[in-house]
Amino acid sequence: TLNGAEVALRDAAINRLAKRIEGRVLRPGDADYDGARRVWNAMFERRPALIVRCASVRDVQTAVSFAREHELLTAVRCGGHSSSGQSVCDRGLVIDLSSMRRVQVDPVARTVRADGGCLLGDVDAAAQAVGLASTFGVVSHTGVGGLTLGGGMGRLQRQFGLAIDNLREVQVVTADGRLLIANEQRNRDLFWAVRGGGGNFGIVTAFEFRLHPFAYPVTTRSFQYATDDARKVLAAYFDYANEAPDELWLTTTLSRSASGDAIVSVSGNFMGAPDRAEPALRALGTFGKPIGTRSGSIKYLDIQKVADVGSRHGRYHYAKSGMLGAMDDHGSRDRLIDATVGFFLDQALPGTKASLLLMGGAVNRVGVDATAYPHRSAMHNIDVGGDGDTRTDGERYVDWGRRYWTGIEAFTGGGFYVNSSIDDDERRIRGNYGGNFERLVAVKTQYDPANLFRLNANVRPRARG
Ligand code: FAD
Repeated sequence: TLNGAEVALRDAAINRLAKRIEGRVLRPGDADYDGARRVWNAMFERRPALIVRCASVRDVQTAVSFAREHELLTAVRCGGHSSSGQSVCDRGLVIDLSSMRRVQVDPVARTVRADGGCLLGDVDAAAQAVGLASTFGVVSHTGVGGLTLGGGMGRLQRQFGLAIDNLREVQVVTADGRLLIANEQRNRDLFWAVRGGGGNFGIVTAFEFRLHPFAYPVTTRSFQYATDDARKVLAAYFDYANEAPDELWLTTTLSRSASGDAIVSVSGNFMGAPDRAEPALRALGTFGKPIGTRSGSIKYLDIQKVADVGSRHGRYHYAKSGMLGAMDDHGSRDRLIDATVGFFLDQALPGTKASLLLMGGAVNRVGVDATAYPHRSAMHNIDVGGDGDTRTDGERYVDWGRRYWTGIEAFTGGGFYVNSSIDDDERRIRGNYGGNFERLVAVKTQYDPANLFRLNANVRPRARG
C-alpha cells in the first residue's frame, strides 16, 4: 500500500477489476507478466502484484479508482525508460499505458494528438509523413509520457523549445478518477504543473503538441580527440557554446569503451538548411588536434533512431546529471574541467562516460515561471555514468558515478533534469525547482492530496487538516 503496509487483495476484487478492464490485468504467473514488468534499466528487477494494461481512457480511470480505493502503491508506465525504475514497483500496482498508442496529426492546424502510451518514434513518424516535426528525444523507443512531463529535450530544442514548450493541451486522469482537460484556458495550474513537474499530478491519457515544418536532411559531423587534449577540447566547447547557432545540436563526450580505451568526441547535428551547416560544423574540428572525423547527411526520421540499438532495453545503467550555466567565469570553468577530466582519467572504468549537452536557444527564451520546468538559464546538461551488460557492471557505475558527482555537483547549483535523475530526495527536488516549488506543492495538494502518484521526482502534497 501507499504507506508500506501489506493488504491481501481478494480474488473477487481482482476478478471484478478484470471484468471492467477492456485491456488486460496481469498477475505473477501469467504468460505475459514477466515481459510486462521489465523496464529499460535492468538494475530495477521488480515484481508488482498487478499490472493493468489499459486499452482506453476508461481503463485508466478504473485502474486509478481501484488503486485509490485500496490505497495501493502505484506506478505509471509509458515507454519504461525511467532511469530510476519508477515505472515499476514491488508488490504494488502498475498502470501500464503501453497499448494506448494512437497518433492523429492535423497537417492544417500543424498539431499532433498522441495517446499517453506513445513512443517518440510513433509521433515522429506520423509528423514527418506530412513534413512536420516537434522536439522529441534522441531514442525512438522512449515514451512520450515520461519524456514530456519532465521537459523533453531533443535535437530541435534550440529552435523550437522543449517538448513542453510545444504542448497545447493534455487530457489527464486525476487521483479522484476524473478526466480533465488542461490547457492555457482550462485548469491552467494543472497545465502549468505538468510542463516539467513530471508524473506527480495524474495520468496523462493524451498530449496535443504544436508541430513545425521540418523537411531538411540533417548534416552530421563528429571529431574524435585523444584524451591528452581533453582539457583543451572542453574549454573550446564552452567558448563555442555561447556563439553556436540555434540549429546546432551539440554534445561533447569523454567515453571509455568496454575494452578500456578512452576518447573525447565532439558531435554536431545541424538541424537546418544544409548550406548553412558548414561553418558551425567546421568549428567543432578546431577544439584541439582531431585524430578522426566522420561526416554525413541523414534523414530526420533516421537520425532519430540512430541511437536505438546502443540504448536498447535491458542494460544495467547508472547516471548522475545536472544543469550548468554559461560557464563564462574562466576560473570556475577551469575548475569544472579539472574535476571532470581529472576524475574520468584517474578513475578509469570501462563502459563509462561523461557528457556535455548544449542547451540554451529557444529553451531559454521561455520565462522561468512560465512552466514548472525551472532551468531556463541553463546552457549545458552534464551527465556522468555508465551502461553495461551485467548487474556487477551496474553496481560499479553506481559507486563510480556517485564519487564522480561529489566533484561536480557544486557547479550545477543543485539543478538537474528530473527525467535523468536517479538518486532524488526531497531536499534535492525542492532545490531543483527553486521558486517554482511552492506552486507545484499547491497544485499537487489540490489534485493528488493522498500522493497516489508518488513514484516520480515526488512533490509531496501539504499535510491535510
Ligand atoms: P516510463 O518509465 O514509462 O515513465 C517514467 C515516469 O514518467 C513514470 O514513472 C511516470 O511518473 C511518468 N509517466 C510516464 N508516462 C506518463 C503518463 N502518460 N502520465 C503520467 N505520468 C507518466 N530525455 C529527454 O528529454 N531527451 C532525450 O533525448 C532522452 N533520451 C533518452 C534515451 C534513453 C535510452 C533513456 C533511457 C532516457 C532518455 N531520456 C531522454 C530520459 C527520458 O525522458 C526519461 O527516462 C523519461 O522518464 C522516459 O519516459 P518513458 O515514458 O519512456 O518512461
